[in-house]
Amino acid sequence: MELRLPAPCLIVLVGPSGSGKSTWATGTFHNTEIVSSDFLRGMVGTGEDDQQASKTAFSILDQIVAERLGRKLTTVIDTLGYNQDSRQRWVAMAHDAGLPAFAIVFETSAAEIELRNSRRLRSTPKSVLSKQLRRLHAVRDELAEDGFDQIHVQQQVALVAPQIASSSQTPTRDGQTSTGHSFGLMVNRFDWGGDREDFALRLAAIAQRAESAGFRDLWVMDHFRQIPQVGRVWEDMPEAYTTLSYLAGVTSTIRLGALVTAVTHRSPVLLGKMLATLDVISRGRANLGLGIAWDAKEHQAYGIPFPGTPQRYEILEDTLEMLPLLWGKGAPSFEGKSFTASELVCYPRPIQEQIPILVGGSGEQKTLRLVARRAQGCNLFGRPEAIAHKVEVIQRHCAEYGRDPNQIEITHLVDAMTAEDRETLRHRVDQLRGRSVSAAAFGARHNAGTVDDQVVHFSAYRAAGARHSIVVLPDLHLEDSIESFAEVIQRMSGP
Ligand code: GDP
Ligand code: MG
Repeated sequence: MELRLPAPCLIVLVGPSGSGKSTWATGTFHNTEIVSSDFLRGMVGTGEDDQQASKTAFSILDQIVAERLGRKLTTVIDTLGYNQDSRQRWVAMAHDAGLPAFAIVFETSAAEIELRNSRRLRSTPKSVLSKQLRRLHAVRDELAEDGFDQIHVQQQVALVAPQIASSSQTPTRDGQTSTGHSFGLMVNRFDWGGDREDFALRLAAIAQRAESAGFRDLWVMDHFRQIPQVGRVWEDMPEAYTTLSYLAGVTSTIRLGALVTAVTHRSPVLLGKMLATLDVISRGRANLGLGIAWDAKEHQAYGIPFPGTPQRYEILEDTLEMLPLLWGKGAPSFEGKSFTASELVCYPRPIQEQIPILVGGSGEQKTLRLVARRAQGCNLFGRPEAIAHKVEVIQRHCAEYGRDPNQIEITHLVDAMTAEDRETLRHRVDQLRGRSVSAAAFGARHNAGTVDDQVVHFSAYRAAGARHSIVVLPDLHLEDSIESFAEVIQRMSGP
């Protein structure tokens, strides 16, 4: 099993000459990530073993380390690692930059090291080597005082997105991993390039590929223009429900919804009517993601009223209460806080007994209370620990309303980017990241990982109580993005 450490980070190698530090480092990290005192001695002196060049080499090494850590770049320091002052200085630099620091100790046996040394072109003097070997024990003890986040012995290491690294170090409870988990695909960018004439076909292809890959549902955004968290205002943003109607006609099993529909964008009854129609034309595949809206600037830009938060909660509450009446039989009336209606007739009625309503947001007092009272699901953000806390809150609210918490589907939204192996993943990250964004920063933001990494990551969400993960794929516009994720879906669906 490989040890997953978060990138970016500082890694300090510790071990005698010939214990295999440089060999391990070059086999594990990218060559630009390794700062080696031997290499620098070779650059400023007669060769890697030119002791007279040591002082200069170490001074340059320190400078490189400071520059790299300051830019939050993964830095692997390949020296003996025996000098405590140096180690402590490097650890402090890493922590100042907000990076974790790890020590990797090389415990290769004395016999093996002596054998390797004897085969070297210019072997290390025996007395020097035996001194280093004897001192290793004491150095190990000193390491505990240096402030490292973790100390490991040499093993197979992979640098991964921090969320994936922390998921791999949280033990998951038996029976809670890898089974029965489902996935949705969030399509939040539509700037695939190409002609507007081809827009529909590209959209259809994405939905069809998602369906084949085993995604249970596909989600679009309910915005009139791209939101600042994702891109520029002039990027393509098709209207949500028109798009979903089209997708209903070109797919057959995938469920369809908007994450999330703003209660302010349409009158509640118009929204209910649209959902009923979407459900009928898709033969029962409509989802309703619903929220109180947040983008005041967008509302202002388009002249859409944006009442205060309490009023928007009232609309949400009224909508949640009214929809089952609208979708049910007959012509009931409804009297809410924000509107009244005298004859809620809606034919054709939806095919699903209850179009699942998923409320977006994680406010504990109002939103999650409404979830417990009137919704079929919720959509949360954040890391597994944050989700676990929100799940507890929902359970408490459920107890208050006498609702079975298992009736509420906990979903969450998270970025993911997948490739079958680390090499392909690295390539893909380099293809997508901007010039001034490091591979690690890009990987961290989008949770880049192999299929195995993703299974580890989503298992942590499942252990936290989420049952359905809605993913944003930053590489959606590239070939194979959806297909690469299919294996994660397969591995986690199970019986
Ligand atoms: P360093 O001085 O700790 O950086 O050690 P090196 O990585 O330079 O390795 C010293 C010698 O041991 C080199 O000749 C390597 O080829 C050899 N070596 C390193 N790691 C291994 C290993 O895992 N297995 C074997 N058989 N040889 C190794
Ligand atoms: Mg070396």
